[in-house]
Amino acid sequence: MAISHQTRWLLTATGLIIVATAIIVSRANQPTRRIAPLVADFRVGGAAPALSGATLAAQTDTLQISVAPQALPANASIEAITAELHTALAYVSARTATAPAGPITVLILADPHCALHGAAYTQTREAHVYTCAAIAPERAVNILAHEFVHQLAHDHYGDAHLRSDPILLEGWATWGAGYYWLGRHATFRAFLGGQAPLPLVTNHLGRPAAEMNTLYYQWASFVEYLLLTYGRDAFDRLYRSGDGTAGSADYQGVYGVDIATLEAEWRAWLGSK
Ligand SMILES: [Zn+2]
Repeated sequence: MAISHQTRWLLTATGLIIVATAIIVSRANQPTRRIAPLVADFRVGGAAPALSGATLAAQTDTLQISVAPQALPANASIEAITAELHTALAYVSARTATAPAGPITVLILADPHCALHGAAYTQTREAHVYTCAAIAPERAVNILAHEFVHQLAHDHYGDAHLRSDPILLEGWATWGAGYYWLGRHATFRAFLGGQAPLPLVTNHLGRPAAEMNTLYYQWASFVEYLLLTYGRDAFDRLYRSGDGTAGSADYQGVYGVDIATLEAEWRAWLGSK
């Protein structure tokens, strides 16, 4: 396990700086077009980068939010972002039926290349998003909704979370972010519209952002399918059974069906609507 963790951490760190691309969605009840979140990483172990020169924006029972200089547009309302982050945490907590086990530290950091991305350090309860003044703050909130689900997964599954199958790890975080990644769509199946070009068992690390993004949406849809078909209790057993590599969860043992068969059934379900 230690080797697996280390390897995974290094690969994730290497692949962390990723340029955002463009799946466009419209958020429900909002006329402006917006761009869906793209890359939201999860990190196992390791120290979070230090933040210097930050403004402590808000400190509450559940969230401690700091904003680095140049991270947000000059006219951004910290109060509005703080309120939206609380809304996001409450939303993902309800959607995943998991309450946070403690406060979460949120760092909104400036990426010098304006590459929007995030990371969760769940052992130290930190969620980071890298953004810049040219990016709408709502997109950083979308990324953080995903990172919050990683924290809730740690709170719910414990250490098993750290070695879970990436299909489930990232699929759950993306599915859990729901509205924040779906825009006007009600479900991930609807979002995909029958399009799922990548195999489910794919190593996502180091891939171009657009491919990683596609994979995250596919995995979220697969999680959606598993939850609808087999329920949450079985999903929880599955989530705890992985070894950190894609496809490693015990699909056969938990569902009595192997991953290849599940994928075929999921694809048929995707295309049936
Ligand atoms: Zn993630």
